Amino acid sequence: MKYISTRGGISPVSFKEAVMMGLATDGGLLLPESLPSVDEPRLAQWQSLNYQDLAHEVFSLFIDDIDSRDLKELVERSYSTFSHPEITPLTKRDNLYILELFHGPTLAFKDVALQFLGNVFEYLLKESGNTMNILGATSGDTGSAAIYGVRGKENINIFILHPHKRVSPIQELQMTSVLDENVFNIAIKGTFDDGQEIVKGIFNDIDFKSRYNLGAINSINWARVLAQVVYYIYAYLRVSQAENTKVVDFSIPTGNFGDIFAGFVARKILGDGKIGKLVLATNENDILSRFVLNGEYSKSEVVPTVSPSMDIQMASNFERYLYYLNDADPDKTKIDMETFASLGVLSFSSAKFSRVKNDFSSQRVAEAETVETIRQFHEKTGYVLDPHTAVGVHAALNKRREHVPMVSLATAHPGKFGEAVSRAIGEQKLPETLQDLVGKKTRCSLLNADVNEIKEFIQHNAMV
Ligand SMILES: *Cc1c(COP(=O)(O)O)cnc(C)c1O
Repeated sequence: MKYISTRGGISPVSFKEAVMMGLATDGGLLLPESLPSVDEPRLAQWQSLNYQDLAHEVFSLFIDDIDSRDLKELVERSYSTFSHPEITPLTKRDNLYILELFHGPTLAFKDVALQFLGNVFEYLLKESGNTMNILGATSGDTGSAAIYGVRGKENINIFILHPHKRVSPIQELQMTSVLDENVFNIAIKGTFDDGQEIVKGIFNDIDFKSRYNLGAINSINWARVLAQVVYYIYAYLRVSQAENTKVVDFSIPTGNFGDIFAGFVARKILGDGKIGKLVLATNENDILSRFVLNGEYSKSEVVPTVSPSMDIQMASNFERYLYYLNDADPDKTKIDMETFASLGVLSFSSAKFSRVKNDFSSQRVAEAETVETIRQFHEKTGYVLDPHTAVGVHAALNKRREHVPMVSLATAHPGKFGEAVSRAIGEQKLPETLQDLVGKKTRCSLLNADVNEIKEFIQHNAMV
């Protein structure tokens, strides 16, 4: 399996190269040259597999340059950190299936991909004898998943910037209580935007970037998308069997379009009529929802919401879908992305728009509706939703079709975003994993929001 760029500017690369490259060197995103297909007999064989074995099967369709036994071992190790034996269990409430993706070490769905990516990085670096320094900025909610993905790994250091005193105490603890020598938490005296600007500035210094082999761990890495494809197939197999149906719909709380794009890939490889509608649920940051509803992709301002991991206007994985919408034409995709960069808007022909509507349905869920969904769902079923999951559930309940089972993706544990949850149903007890953090020893460096100061810090602490 070779990987190409959505913008066509690189010669095909292997899976290993694709993982190490992250973003394609021509500015595009990496995708498999062609998508494999899974026929009925094979799907039937997969029915009895546990999560790890299914992951190994799915990965093997896309990865042909890692020894199969090594790959199996990477999968086993990646999911051994999960607290549930089924890794991503399903629960049925109010005739809705909830796919719980939050049983990883940081209680959010990003663990499913980042636990795997961290192990793959370590494996590939060991093989090549290289080292890597990961750099990223977080507003608080996703930094810990990146840190837990690579903590204690050989040949990798990680530097995560967060705005000092502007993340919640629990979020701060989740990051700073990780004491592994290769983890560097940096609290900057500034905002999240300052942090992002600094990181961008450092990545733009090509000399510095190559000297320290700087890497990113954002949602554009193909290995992350791939890891997420697995749970769609896992849920499809279980729900289609339990309901004795062929078609299953999914509702996905969406920000960067990574999770829902994995659903799109899963649907493509399973073939028509199995995964039915993908319901794209957004909060008030609704660029993607407007795209599905109006056929126009246009930027606007980011507003803060109670589902902060979805407070995004530029969905970094959207380009991958655009490539398929352009019938795998990289030249057209490149022009579209350039048009969007200069005008901030992309329009689509009515033929393309009807394909979009065939692939997705969508709903924008406002803050009051999100809180009300948490309250009502709890009242009706006793189940506590986190605000991101509630956005998806609200859309799922609205968009579900008669006789088609609906799976709604639960992307975070409610204890992680207690503020909105307590507004809806009153104070909840913290989950044990988070309670245990209180009073733990922490390590963090407080620095000025200054590119040079951060660079010096990295220089001093980098893995070389
Ligand atoms: C990242 C995240 C999302 C959004 O996923 P995308 O892949 O960015 O669309 C939703 N919920 C939670 C809790 C997240 O952390």
